[in-house]
Amino acid sequence: MVWGSLLTDAQRREVRAVSMTLLGELRQVSPDTRSHTLSEGAAGLALVCEVADQNNLGSFETEGDAFLSRAVEDVAEYPILPGLWQGYSGVCWVLDRFNNDGGESSGAIVDRYHKDITAQCERRAYDLYGGLAGDGLALLERTPSPDLERLLLRIVTALQALSTESEAGRHWVTSPDHLSIAGRKHSPTGFIATGMAHGSAGIISFLSQTIKLYPSITAAKELLQASTAWLLSQRNPKNKTRYPHTITKTERREGRSAWCHGDIGVAVALLMASQVLGNSSWEAEAVDTARSAFRNNGIDRRLPDLCLCHGASGVAQLYAFMAEVTRDKECALAAASWHEHVLREYAKSAQGLHFYTASINDEGEEVPQWTQDRSLLFGSERWTPLSGPIS
Ligand SMILES: [Zn+2]
Repeated sequence: MVWGSLLTDAQRREVRAVSMTLLGELRQVSPDTRSHTLSEGAAGLALVCEVADQNNLGSFETEGDAFLSRAVEDVAEYPILPGLWQGYSGVCWVLDRFNNDGGESSGAIVDRYHKDITAQCERRAYDLYGGLAGDGLALLERTPSPDLERLLLRIVTALQALSTESEAGRHWVTSPDHLSIAGRKHSPTGFIATGMAHGSAGIISFLSQTIKLYPSITAAKELLQASTAWLLSQRNPKNKTRYPHTITKTERREGRSAWCHGDIGVAVALLMASQVLGNSSWEAEAVDTARSAFRNNGIDRRLPDLCLCHGASGVAQLYAFMAEVTRDKECALAAASWHEHVLREYAKSAQGLHFYTASINDEGEEVPQWTQDRSLLFGSERWTPLSGPIS
């Protein structure tokens, strides 16, 4: 287990106690009150139940099945689009994890994938959060088959077609059409992102996992080489933020280090690429980036949330992954420090289920508040101390 060697016995007992409290509350949540999604809905809570079962925190099979049924019913009934965190790709991913039957039970959803992805590949967003890279990552959970390999090749080919070539390699441009109203206001001509949720790091992670499981998809290797080369060309070691969050026509925007945006997500993507293409200098850069993010910023107070997406739990999880793969002591220290921070912040909450989170207002500003959000990606049901990285 990732966290086994990183936590003290006292921390493990505390994690277990917190987990049991939150799981007790989870039993009271009605599936009918949830949407289908992995990020905030029933599919995410079904995954929490599965992880709780795996970690011997009680039997949650009944609750997990109820959440998953809810998600599958919604996907069957409504014209929901693909997408990892908010579309049906995430539901399919959880279904395949649950049933462990080679993907038979999610066959109907995968038929829909074939139709949707084949028809709309070049019109879809490319990112991990809601686009092709996330669809592909979800499909990797299924047992390999020639059909599935063809679908993955189709996704890789579309990602290549959607990319922009430059002297430095290949990158992806997010056009204003794929942004929310607030996003368009903030970036009227769109942007280039480097991070895990919406940028190159997410695509690099998907391509790396694809090559690991399907080494015969050689187009993925070429695209991985070119996209990693571009990402490395954006490196600026003199900055506190080594890789910019986004690049627009007029500026390079920098910020905090988290799963969705920032250096720690970039570091994990570089590490994954280094592993599958056997590039030791990429691994060295991955470790150096992760170390410098912690050395420069420590427990970064610009990150008030505890959530997986852009909060302390996600950062702790990614450092734990870095430490497990590389055995780097500084990454292990960063993982333990961020984890301790999560526990201390949790303890400050007078009411156990309230978590400090920051919502975005219409002006694009973060408004910190205590919330009772119980979603997987943004709320309290994150279980990261006991499980592996979510993506
Ligand atoms: Zn986020």
